[in-house]
Amino acid sequence: MLKGNFPVESFEKIKTPFYYYDMSLLRRTLDRVKQELAKSPDFVLHYAIKANANPVILSTISSAGFGADCVSGGEVRAALSNGFRPDAVVFAGVGKTDEDILFSLKAGIARFNVESVEELEVIDSLAASLNLIAPVSLRVNPDVGAHTNAKITTGLSENKFGINYEQLDSVLAKALKLKNVEYKGLHFHIGSQILDMSDFASLCNRINSLVESLRAKDLPLGDINVGGGLGVDYHHPNHLDVADFEAYFDVFRKHLTLPRGCKVHFELGRSIVAPCGSLISRVLYVKQGTSRKFAILDASMTELVRPAMYKAYHRVENLSSNESEEIYDVVGPVCESSDVFVKEASLDKCHRGDIVAVRSAGAYGEAMASCYNCRPLPKSYFSDMMP
Ligand SMILES: *Cc1c(COP(=O)(O)O)cnc(C)c1O
Repeated sequence: MLKGNFPVESFEKIKTPFYYYDMSLLRRTLDRVKQELAKSPDFVLHYAIKANANPVILSTISSAGFGADCVSGGEVRAALSNGFRPDAVVFAGVGKTDEDILFSLKAGIARFNVESVEELEVIDSLAASLNLIAPVSLRVNPDVGAHTNAKITTGLSENKFGINYEQLDSVLAKALKLKNVEYKGLHFHIGSQILDMSDFASLCNRINSLVESLRAKDLPLGDINVGGGLGVDYHHPNHLDVADFEAYFDVFRKHLTLPRGCKVHFELGRSIVAPCGSLISRVLYVKQGTSRKFAILDASMTELVRPAMYKAYHRVENLSSNESEEIYDVVGPVCESSDVFVKEASLDKCHRGDIVAVRSAGAYGEAMASCYNCRPLPKSYFSDMMP
C-alpha cells in the first residue's frame, strides 16, 4: 500500500502531534504553476496567505516570485516580513480596520480589494490624511454558486462579501470621483475546494458580460482578479499530489474574453499548499467499543479543525504498521463529540504508539489551529530540515 514519502524514523524522535511539510512537493507544485503562468503572460498569481502563513512556507512561495493575497492586517505584515514585495501584496476582507488600512497605505501595497461603499469612503479619507492615493479594486459578488460546502461558498448574492451587481455602477462612479482612491479593477471570488471546472467557466461568463456592460457604458475596466478556489483530491493524496493547474488555467484561457493586455490575477491558496502538509500524530489508545473500534490520537480538532468545522474528509494513514486493514473511528482527545477526524476509516491495524499521518493538511490546518482545552499550538517540521 502506498503511504507517501515519509521519514518515519525521524518522526519517531519527535514529540507528536506536529505538522510535517514535504518541501520538494511544494516546490514541484510551484514549478507547475509557473509553467502554466508562462503560457499566459497576462496571468499573475497572488498566493492566498490565509491557507497557510507558516514563515517557511511563505518564504518558499515569495522566493518563487509570486505575490500575496491577504485578508487581514496581520497577513499583510506576515507577507512583508517573509519576502513579498509591497507592490505584490493585495488586501481583501469585509472588515478592514483603520489601523490595518493606514499600515497598508504606508507600506505601499499594490491593491485594496474593497468590499463596500462604506469601506471605500473610509479608505479615501484615511489616504487623504496621509496625503496618499489608495489603489483600489471593487470586489463584485458574481452570484455564482460553487458546488462545494455552504460554509466555503462566497459568491452568492446575499452574502457578506463583495458589492452586488445592482450597486456596482454607483460604487464605481464613486470610486472614480473620490480624490484619494484610484480605481484599478474588479475582484471576484466564488468559494473554495471547487473541483467542477464548469463553476469557473460560469464565473468567466459572468465576468465577460460585466466587462461588456462596462464597455457599453464607457466605464473603465482596469484588471480582473478572479480569486481562488481550485480544489484538491483529499481522497487520493498519493496519486494526485499536485492539483490540476493546467485544466484550471485552461478554463480561463478558453472562456475569458478580455481586451488585450488586461491582466488577470489569481489568488490560489488551498491548491498550492494542501497536498504538501500532513498532521503527524501518535495513537494513544485503541479502544474497543461494542460495535466500533476507536483509534484515539494525540492530535485533535485544535491542530486540524476542518473535519469538525466543515465535515471535511482527510485520509488517515498508519505509517508504523503493515498489518491488514481494520475499520476505526479515528478521533482526538478534545472534549467535544465533533473531535473526530474520520469515521469508519480503513487503517492498517493500529497499536498504541503507532505513528499516523492525517494527509493533505497543508491548507487551513496549521493556520486555523487553536489552544482550546489548553492545548499548545502545533510545531512544524520540514522535509529538508529534519532534526
Ligand atoms: C480564501 C480566499 C482565497 C483562496 O481560496 P482557496 O480556495 O484557498 O484557493 C482567494 N481569495 C480570497 C478573497 C479569499 O478569501
